[in-house]
Amino acid sequence: MKSDLLSKGYEPHEVEKRWYDYWEKEQLFAALDDSSSKGYAIVIPPPNVTGVLHMGHALNNTLQDILCRYRRLRGDNVLWMPGTDHAGIATQNVVERKLAEDGLDRHQLGREKFIEAVWQWREKYGSAIINQLKRLGASCDWARERFTMDAGLSKAVRKVFVQLYEQGLIYRGNYIINWCPRCFTALADLEVEHEETAGHLYHIRYPFEDGSDSVVVATTRPETMLGDTAVAVHPDDERYRKTNHKNIILPLMNRNIPVIKDKYVDISFGTGALKVTPAHDPNDYDIGLRHDLAVVKVIDDKGFMSSEAGKFEGLERFECRKAVVKALEEEKFLVKIEPYRHSVGHCYRCKDVVEPNLSQQWFVKTKPLADKAIAAVENGETRIVPEIWANTYYDWMNNIKDWCISRQIWWGHRIPAWTCEVCGKLIVAMDAPEQCPACKGSRLIRETDVLDTWFSSALWPFSTMGWPQKDRLLDIFYPTSVLVTAFDILFFWVARMMMMGIHFMNDVPFKDVYVHALVRDEAGKKMSKSTGNVIDPLSVIERYGTDAFRFTLAAFAAQGRDIKMSEKRIEGYRHFVNKLWNAARLALMHIENADATIDVDRLALPDRWILSRLHAVTAAVEEALDTYCFNDASAALYNFVWHEFCDWYLEAIKPVLYDNEGPDRKAATIAVVRRVLHDTLILLHPFIPFVTEEIWHKMPGAEGSIMRAVFPSDAADFEKIKCDKKVEQEMKLVIDAITGVRNVRGEMDLAPSMALDVTVQSAENPIRQTIDQYRDLIINLARLKSFAVEPLGKKPVTAATTIIGGATIFVSLEGIIDFEKESRRLEKSIKKVTTEITPVVKKLGNQNFLSKAPEEVVTKVKEKHAQLMEKLNKLESTLEKIKELAK
Ligand SMILES: [Zn+2]
Ligand SMILES: [Zn+2]
Repeated sequence: MKSDLLSKGYEPHEVEKRWYDYWEKEQLFAALDDSSSKGYAIVIPPPNVTGVLHMGHALNNTLQDILCRYRRLRGDNVLWMPGTDHAGIATQNVVERKLAEDGLDRHQLGREKFIEAVWQWREKYGSAIINQLKRLGASCDWARERFTMDAGLSKAVRKVFVQLYEQGLIYRGNYIINWCPRCFTALADLEVEHEETAGHLYHIRYPFEDGSDSVVVATTRPETMLGDTAVAVHPDDERYRKTNHKNIILPLMNRNIPVIKDKYVDISFGTGALKVTPAHDPNDYDIGLRHDLAVVKVIDDKGFMSSEAGKFEGLERFECRKAVVKALEEEKFLVKIEPYRHSVGHCYRCKDVVEPNLSQQWFVKTKPLADKAIAAVENGETRIVPEIWANTYYDWMNNIKDWCISRQIWWGHRIPAWTCEVCGKLIVAMDAPEQCPACKGSRLIRETDVLDTWFSSALWPFSTMGWPQKDRLLDIFYPTSVLVTAFDILFFWVARMMMMGIHFMNDVPFKDVYVHALVRDEAGKKMSKSTGNVIDPLSVIERYGTDAFRFTLAAFAAQGRDIKMSEKRIEGYRHFVNKLWNAARLALMHIENADATIDVDRLALPDRWILSRLHAVTAAVEEALDTYCFNDASAALYNFVWHEFCDWYLEAIKPVLYDNEGPDRKAATIAVVRRVLHDTLILLHPFIPFVTEEIWHKMPGAEGSIMRAVFPSDAADFEKIKCDKKVEQEMKLVIDAITGVRNVRGEMDLAPSMALDVTVQSAENPIRQTIDQYRDLIINLARLKSFAVEPLGKKPVTAATTIIGGATIFVSLEGIIDFEKESRRLEKSIKKVTTEITPVVKKLGNQNFLSKAPEEVVTKVKEKHAQLMEKLNKLESTLEKIKELAK
């Protein structure tokens, strides 16, 4: 026996740092652009440069890493493209807050200086998230790290913008957009968070011009009435059919506005009359277009009342609301105020109330792009897994609106458009034009808006690979193999990558989209700072090690189901990592050389069994990972390592390892141990990369990193180690017999060290033969003094019975058991089985169930009934016997 190769306990931190440095130094994460191997590519969902690793990142990147490490073991040329997103508003806000600490704001600095400050911030803090991903074990090709504001990616952005503009797919227009007065920018619909709010509904009386009558309108935002340019009613509304009134005098403003008829109006809402404010409501804006109404903007971009608001000019919008209500009340135009719950949009960034606002913005015409992106999923060019998300994708894409891509901030890709100061011509170009092509004037004003952050990330799958340059990377790795993403950015990001990828590359950006669930707390609640239920991945890694954490994430990543995470679970999987460590420690004490070949025909039952199980688990892991069933793969590995390899196999071969059965047998067994450990480490590596690499290097003959190993099913002799049904059946019988004796021990409270006399009876000859054949194994593992195998016959006196498939085991209690106690035990068991049988009998008596349930369900219930009845009969007869014995 060799001395300890592995230390007694696994210490993750030192190991993790050492191997990560080694992998990087050896360039084991590098994709090759001159390889003939099959290309496999994943682009990372780029975390915000301001980001801090949270549970969502941890899950998302662990799954990607599992796939990348797995595909490398399968021999693929893997590219995992890493990078970060410049995250326009988020980053600008972070840097502005930092400036504020020094009493500065960005306007004092000016645009250029401010952008410099952002770049400096990025230099200093921007790689925090990258370092955190490294602690997670992420095997990205870091030499290719990209940033959405890099020169190359910025060029791609300009190219795309110009081309879409020239194709008429980008246009500039007036539109009602969601406006955040605090961030001073337009927001996309998706960037507005709607919240049920307790507000008020204000009913206001608008008099007709001739003073004869009036109409009542209702609004939640009374300050907008200052910008009303019409009152609308439904054309079918009987109440207004006969009205000859053409004009209304707008209260407080004393302006004449028309009464118009439009089908948009909801007859059932209030009086059926709707005030129309085209400048401050998207639906009113559409009505305004249909009826050619004036657009009066009364709230400015900072959220204050404009000069159009008359005497209310200069008031802050919510102050103005109070003032307008007061004035309406004084002038007797206010009919009533009702409490009213309604949904109010808030800025996703600063939570301020969003103001619908009319402004000039840039848009992408999405319909033509969306049609192609829908078709690509419909015809299977891109597969969405799990499939349920495809419907969500279709729903959204079918109802897509034009995408407002301009943002009024400084940090981002500045829109490549110029306006001639002389003739007003708009010029869109890759680079700054020297003169106006129309009037040859040279005074050109550059657009100040920047692009929505998602515009550059929509190009991520091809811009990161060098587009618009022709690059080898694109040839090898585009379309990418899979995109791994959470569902919350399916629209923000995935759908837009589909549209841009298809339009510019003539091919989908990814063959598969795997959508994973969200990590929630133990009770299924969303993790949030305010609830205080956030689990910080970095502190978890600190406490339990990265491998235990990763294995937990994989184990709970069932498709479509939210992951309920708790530290207890991670602690549980730390035990698993330790179990593997201890098993390897034991095995490595005995493995002397690397080249012992396995002669399957000359092996003992446990050896042949564990090889058969190894074959099965390899196939299971392969199938699960090929179909993104991460939890199935980890469950199969957990069960194999813990319950089969450790609990049964290593226990069964201990006498062999300790030289009790001769050198030949030992050599044969050690060759099997070595092979199983070797293959298991490779299978586990994608999930728990650090501990497997550490053990790998202690294996005799191991050369280089486990990352360069061959996946077990690709090994030349994999088919030799085949699944053997007969071996598995025989071993099951042996395991059942041993478990049966152990159960009796447990139930009767017999010490594990107490050697027992056991008799097995079976009516079936093959069962008796198998049990007899492996009697030494059973005697050893069940700790028996004597062991008899007999045909069904007279039951031994004074024995506890237990039933396994096809056989009955009698554990002699002569002189070691209290019969009274045993009868009570049996009575208890009988009671338990009787309770179990009652609902089954009831079910089988139910005609409705028998006729309606599927056949296999009925069969199962019948089988269960038969089993329970058999159990009950045996228990009752044993009880009878025990009572006899006790007399
Ligand atoms: Zn805001
Ligand atoms: Zn000009």
